[in-house]
Amino acid sequence: MTRALAVRNEKGGVGKTTTAVNLAATLARAQRTVLLVDLDPQGNATTGCGLRKDEPGRGAAEVLLGEAPLAEARAEAASGGFALVPGGPDLTAAELGLLGRERREYRLREALAGAGDDYVLIDCPPALNILTVNALVAADAALVPTQCEYYALEGLDSLLATIERLAAGANPGLRLAGVLRTMYDTRNNLAREVSETLCRRLGDRVFRTVIPRNVTLAEAPSHGLPVTAYRAASPGATAYLMLAGELLRREEAAG
Ligand code: ADP
Ligand code: MG
Repeated sequence: MTRALAVRNEKGGVGKTTTAVNLAATLARAQRTVLLVDLDPQGNATTGCGLRKDEPGRGAAEVLLGEAPLAEARAEAASGGFALVPGGPDLTAAELGLLGRERREYRLREALAGAGDDYVLIDCPPALNILTVNALVAADAALVPTQCEYYALEGLDSLLATIERLAAGANPGLRLAGVLRTMYDTRNNLAREVSETLCRRLGDRVFRTVIPRNVTLAEAPSHGLPVTAYRAASPGATAYLMLAGELLRREEAAG
């Protein structure tokens, strides 16, 4: 059975792409087959996997528009043992192209129906547009990276409300996989306070694994590699390995 997770937060720069790429690699290390779908016109997940985002032809845009089947849009990440449906600037055109089309929010869900992978991770753009809606409609659950800063608490309610709205409408099965604390700096008092507030408000919906601020995580994409392939012993690699373990326990405990 395929489990699809949308890596999602309306804010940019919170660690969505870093989480999508590195969790894809660490789930693959845990012997799960993984497909990463890059739905962000910035294409950062694509370049972070060592592929080009401006390659015309087959990618997430073509899948959404029904111009290429999923099987043709899949590529192998340069390293890490997982597959990728590349994204890039074509997704902006696809967003416009989907306007006025029927069942436009179900495109990705329908394309993924025969994917056959254990996990599909969908890297979302930092907006609530039709691309993100496609991700949330295709997903079983949303994984929400967040920085432990004050604005994160303000955005959280609207984010949880979106999930509930979709769950009540186009995707009744949608749940929250968990909120992930990213770029965490233990020396920062505000981060500690926000972290405590998050845990108090959301309880076990917050992953126990915390991703530390670690420069290696920021360097790895410039080499087109997940951190586990770039610096396997770094704190960032260790944290994403732990996250994969925690996610597998949480997702697969229920059978
Ligand atoms: P988003 O996809 O939400 O916009 P990114 O994953 O691209 O966020 O992260 C934003 C920036 O922060 C990138 O330059 C990335 O390399 C860096 N970054 C992400 N996570 C970490 C981390 N844990 N430690 C240090 N830098 C990080
Ligand atoms: Mg991103």
